[in-house]
Amino acid sequence: MLDSILESLHVVALPTKTNFRSIEVREVALIRGPAGWGEFSPFLEYGPEESLPWLQSAIESAYLSPPALLRSKIDVNATLPAVNGREKIEEVLSWYPGCQVAKIKVGDNFEDDLNRIRIAQEVIPGLQIRLDVNGLWSVQQACQYLGEIFIHAGHIQYVEQPCATIQELRELKRVLDVPILIAGDEVLRKAKDPFAIDLDGAVDIVMLKVAPLGGIARSLRLANHHGLPVVVSSALESTIGILHGLRLAGVLPKLNYACGLATGSLLGADVAHFPIIDGAIEIVDVVPSIQSLTEFAVPQDRLLWWQERIKKIWDLGLEKEGWAR
Ligand SMILES: [Mg+2]
Repeated sequence: MLDSILESLHVVALPTKTNFRSIEVREVALIRGPAGWGEFSPFLEYGPEESLPWLQSAIESAYLSPPALLRSKIDVNATLPAVNGREKIEEVLSWYPGCQVAKIKVGDNFEDDLNRIRIAQEVIPGLQIRLDVNGLWSVQQACQYLGEIFIHAGHIQYVEQPCATIQELRELKRVLDVPILIAGDEVLRKAKDPFAIDLDGAVDIVMLKVAPLGGIARSLRLANHHGLPVVVSSALESTIGILHGLRLAGVLPKLNYACGLATGSLLGADVAHFPIIDGAIEIVDVVPSIQSLTEFAVPQDRLLWWQERIKKIWDLGLEKEGWAR
């Protein structure tokens, strides 16, 4: 199978519209198998071990038939990176037609954070807000800042990863005196074994990201294992990876929240396109356009780098269970 993965490999460099995660170009690898396309796009700094579930997810997508969907349309949220200034915030929010929920990146500078939240609420009246701190706050800061945000912004749907560790999140839940739910993201997807962690009393919601969690089947098992409400979210994938996330959202028995799967809006170019209509995306099969695979193809040395990367991960040994050979 490794040979056919490497043979079918296309790597594209897609420009981003804002420097989300401080990257201006998103390099993603696409593979093609008997069931369709799969995306393998761990961030460039990730080593083989951390990238392994991403490859499993890509293989699942390309080699196994897609699961039967329980719903065909997924509500999505706007994702507002840490941009400042009314004009920029207005522009970014306009990329998400009809979205009534926005995930706002905060944590770098509290004054900017408050302004970003306030402007977003002014731009879209009635907007529901969730925050993503990416673990940047201490417990004490989280308590103080969430208290102030609650006073200024009112109801917040949830705050994603306000602190870095499970212990801190558990402590925060104990001492936080405003009614804000806590969601875990990095604690799950960065865990060496996401089944082995104990989220009890630490988070109220878990973020499910299909690629870093190793695919749809494994994400479903994880959701079931932890037994908490979930939000499906992306890892800034191209449309091919987003489709796999949409399918995960489409098969979850319970889906109570809009999903963070509209991040294609943050890319300046993509290999295909999912329109956002009335704040939702319809799950339809997409394939990368031949033109985009050519236009955004990386130079030969990058392609070789990705091939080597895949070989190294392959050598670690993929989970064999359930894979078509
Ligand atoms: Mg997050």
